[in-house]
Amino acid sequence: MGKRFCCAITLIAIGWAIAGLAAAAATDTQSIAVAVRDQALSGQSVAWSLLSELTTDIGTRPAGSAAERAAADWAAAKLRAFGFSNVSLQQFPMVAWHRGIEHVELLGAYGPQTLAAAALGGSPPTPAQGVAGEVVAFSSLQALQAAPAEALAGKIALITRKLVVTQDGTGYLAALGGRSRGPAEAAQRGAVGFLMRSLGTGGHRFAHTGSTAYAGDTGPIPAFALAAADADQIERRRAAGEKVHVRLFSSASFSKDAQSQNVIAEIPGRDRPEEVVLIGAHLDCWDLGTGAIDDGSGVAIVTAAAKLILEQPRRPRRTIRVVLFGAEEVTQPHAQPLGDKVYVRAHAADIGSHVLTGESDFGAGWIYSVSLPRGLADTPFAATLGELLGPVGTDISKWDAEHTGTDVKPLVDLGVPSFKLNHDGSRYFEYHHTVDDTLDKIEPATLSQNVAAWATLVWLAADTDINFRMGSQP
Ligand code: ZN
Ligand code: ZN
Repeated sequence: MGKRFCCAITLIAIGWAIAGLAAAAATDTQSIAVAVRDQALSGQSVAWSLLSELTTDIGTRPAGSAAERAAADWAAAKLRAFGFSNVSLQQFPMVAWHRGIEHVELLGAYGPQTLAAAALGGSPPTPAQGVAGEVVAFSSLQALQAAPAEALAGKIALITRKLVVTQDGTGYLAALGGRSRGPAEAAQRGAVGFLMRSLGTGGHRFAHTGSTAYAGDTGPIPAFALAAADADQIERRRAAGEKVHVRLFSSASFSKDAQSQNVIAEIPGRDRPEEVVLIGAHLDCWDLGTGAIDDGSGVAIVTAAAKLILEQPRRPRRTIRVVLFGAEEVTQPHAQPLGDKVYVRAHAADIGSHVLTGESDFGAGWIYSVSLPRGLADTPFAATLGELLGPVGTDISKWDAEHTGTDVKPLVDLGVPSFKLNHDGSRYFEYHHTVDDTLDKIEPATLSQNVAAWATLVWLAADTDINFRMGSQP
């Protein structure tokens, strides 16, 4: 009996010891990585709730608008309620653009035909009677740039380049110059208006808006994106030898004294608080939709991932800083700084303390791979991350992140190493910058997968002392 009692005591003691070891194990780097990954995959719906609130309660939130400010206040309140530290708003002035009433019509012998079109952000209004002219088409921005000065006097330029579907979004980046620089190039050649085939894929009759930049001495001209089907309609008429005329109308306007803001929040590091892992997304979106894929999903993913880390029994060694940028979608006259550059200027003295950065701004498709700084290729960090991301369905198959994100690009340009979680973007440009960028396009289970990949990587990066600057990053 005594011996049995003694054995029982021993077993209990061993049990306590094992339990103690298990408790200790639960706070090591790898165990917490497993915990944040599995909690994200287990269907915690924080990201979905955030995205639903942002797109439903606030809805569309163009840069510099009262709705964008409401989104910032909402995000700051959420971050405070979750327990983040140092939550603040970083405000900056900007010129806000407002879409007005707009109309594009094809003129012809049988009366005008309305085309599906959307003014590009920054496009000025037309006179009350609109602007009419003959369409001169170019296959690309380069073809337009090859046209001599005055070649478009009194005409309306049209860029017909089609967007190629790619998984990684490189088709968009290749064609983007047509939108960002096409109107200015056309204006310099005397054009009175600008049209482009939307930077979109899929078979919908939506126009895809986006910002355009005007440069040089020639004033801006009204600029519109056409739905692909409508650009095709013009091309067929021109191919038949017809001189195609269109009329453009827009009552767009500007607010010169608008303001936007970044929202910043932190999980202070446990023993290297001065070293910062910065993760970002942007709060503003285009006015046509509710910005669920661009970039409400990014806001939800990085916030939910950081919240999971915050809830673990031990804080990471380094500080995790969440930055929800304002006014990502737009450009400004005279290169006035917006959210990305405002952040960098405010942190000019401590850029070197940013050890790693990444941004979520490519929707909520499946994250199929991770890009890391090349110097990490043969490190235990990469091996551990690869092992942990296996069950998430994500490979480490790329090195040196390219175009990590618009908002963190100024940091990357200053030498801050970056990572990228590569979403399957095959369908992203069916909805991007259109009326159809809405919550129903987000798949909740895939959103959870996104959070799992983010939380795992960010936790590991913040709980290591590895120097991400080694290797081939600039
Ligand atoms: Zn975006
Ligand atoms: Zn966008």
